[in-house]
Amino acid sequence: MAAQQALFMAAGDGSRGSLPRTPRQAEVAARRNGVEYVELPCRTLLNKTTNPHLSFTWTINPYRGCEFGCAYCYARYTHEFMGYDDPANFERRIFVKTNAAPALARQARAQHFDGRPIALGTATDPYQPAERLFRVTRGILETLRRYPKLRLSIVTKSALVKRDTALLAELARRGAVTVGFTIITLDRRLARTLEPRAATPQRRLRTMRHLHDAGVPVALLVSPILPHLTDAAADLERLIIAARQAGAATLRCNPLWLSSSSRKTFFPWLRQHFPQLLPAYRRIYSQGMYQSEAYITRVTSLMARLAAKHGLAYGTADEFAPEGNEAPGTEAPPQPQQLTLAGS
Ligand code: SF4
Repeated sequence: MAAQQALFMAAGDGSRGSLPRTPRQAEVAARRNGVEYVELPCRTLLNKTTNPHLSFTWTINPYRGCEFGCAYCYARYTHEFMGYDDPANFERRIFVKTNAAPALARQARAQHFDGRPIALGTATDPYQPAERLFRVTRGILETLRRYPKLRLSIVTKSALVKRDTALLAELARRGAVTVGFTIITLDRRLARTLEPRAATPQRRLRTMRHLHDAGVPVALLVSPILPHLTDAAADLERLIIAARQAGAATLRCNPLWLSSSSRKTFFPWLRQHFPQLLPAYRRIYSQGMYQSEAYITRVTSLMARLAAKHGLAYGTADEFAPEGNEAPGTEAPPQPQQLTLAGS
């Protein structure tokens, strides 16, 4: 179990020294569809991981908060840390690291960036709707493309990544990038309630195919696997086959883990949509955040077998840290240093 837990441990969201002291009073840069976007200047963007089980050294998160609003998302703790106790704030008040690209360039110079692997989008989706407005992820990619030794993995549930196809294809020709798509079910209705504002699974698969056809290596991330909801072997096999047909060459997965922060959203969701499963989930997660070791072994063994059967590479070391269910908040975001918000 220790090794399994260690796989789940990654660094925070990379905004070291960047939080506003009083985020409730921070200036809103834009409003759209009931969502507020708040500028969050950062001094550093690359966040160094400390977990030796992860195969990437750095993480980058262009945003804090995520409009996709997945019921199981672990990253809500980042808003709790800033004093937002209502979980809805995570989806409705998005912090935007608008100066990410220059901060990244400065930091890369200072740290003598040497091309060790970077995971983009470990805590929030880098192609969430805010990216359409602010293009922070785009700026980061344009900065990173300057580094000849770049090794980058991106994780998303968004079709917006298609916008950057040409740039990603350029990086792929250097062997510098892989794009992972988190898809946990092909059941469109279930996905709609679980991941209310993310692209449908079918749209993610089409986007995966599009990038694959453009020469960009793509991967399937089945994370989290939900007990009694998405863990049926036949369903998982159908998902893997669909991803294979869309060009996925790699499979990663993780069973659901539930921090105290994510329980506040997940259990009400379960009560609303699958009340009959409440007792089972209470029992499973009564001892802590993780499923039993026996369950984890059974599910990951099944996924490894299915991967082999359908010709996908499968590894236990994490190449990706799927946003929202693989990098628990084991490291609280650091204390704020300075409040310098620019208005829109
Ligand atoms: S799981 Fe990922 S896509 Fe879903 S809300 Fe969390 S960060 Fe966003």
